[in-house]
Amino acid sequence: MDLSEIKKALTLDELEEIRVKLLGKKGIITQKFKELKNLAPEERKRVAKELNELKERATTLILQKKKELEEKLLEEKLKLEKIDVTLFNPKPTGAIHPITDTMNKIIDFFTRLNFSVETGPLVEDDFHNFEALNLPKYHPARDMQDTFYFNDGNLLRTHTSPVQIRTMLSQKPPIRMISPGAVFRRDYDLTHTPMFHQVEGLVVDKKEKVSFANLKFILESFLVHMFGDVKVRFRPSFFPFTEPSAEVDISCIFCKGEGCRVCSYTGWLEVLGCGVVDPNVFKAVGYNDVSGYAFGLGVERFAMLLNKINDLRIMYEGDIRLMEQLK
Ligand SMILES: [Zn+2]
Repeated sequence: MDLSEIKKALTLDELEEIRVKLLGKKGIITQKFKELKNLAPEERKRVAKELNELKERATTLILQKKKELEEKLLEEKLKLEKIDVTLFNPKPTGAIHPITDTMNKIIDFFTRLNFSVETGPLVEDDFHNFEALNLPKYHPARDMQDTFYFNDGNLLRTHTSPVQIRTMLSQKPPIRMISPGAVFRRDYDLTHTPMFHQVEGLVVDKKEKVSFANLKFILESFLVHMFGDVKVRFRPSFFPFTEPSAEVDISCIFCKGEGCRVCSYTGWLEVLGCGVVDPNVFKAVGYNDVSGYAFGLGVERFAMLLNKINDLRIMYEGDIRLMEQLK
């Protein structure tokens, strides 16, 4: 019998056809085995031996060929998927990431109002991240923040507020600053990722120059800059480093305040926290006879609202199809 056609197979499909033709249920070799019973005993023994050898040879050849064809296929596939990163692409396909884009818009607003942009280390110590911000050890508010600690007691900063402390310790008032940057908390769900971004702001000046009305005006202008024509409201709240404190809502940008799923049918979306700096914070940095206000926001929250995204995690998966849509 001629087994040479096995070697001639060009594709895996062709090879499979040949296998079925030879060794399938109705294959030539299988058929010959069935015909054994018609032979005389001596003859049967001889032919059976030949058939078994033939079957073994055919099986081996098919397996060899299969391996060969599979390797060829893989090679072709790899060749096709190869990307030459040195090739010049005259049309850039990238887009600014929504987080970066949102961050830039925020920074742009405050720098135009003469706020300086301050940065600080991501790995912080207890003093700058908690203690100086009126969060002494065993303060119940420390539970509000699930912190990543290092063995030496240092930690990944849980907010950008330590930058305010560092700025006040290294500069004299007046201060007018924002601190944008990455922060870290042990959290992961639809609206939380372990690393996210904040922008916090701080204004410190002589007592008569700083007021809650001033803070209110700046934040209202800021929110209109970000979200367009929205209503803004302030609700009393609690933060350890400010007193009094407020949370700031905008009228829901999805339903215009009518009530929808996104705003839990309240017509309002919470977007900011703010307040008048607690005197204990000034005490920690050695400032006297000053007053100040501070505010803070989550950049991801703003980016989600501005781009109408409801699952934060997709922003960090780098799916090019999403980024294309956000261009
Ligand atoms: Zn709504």
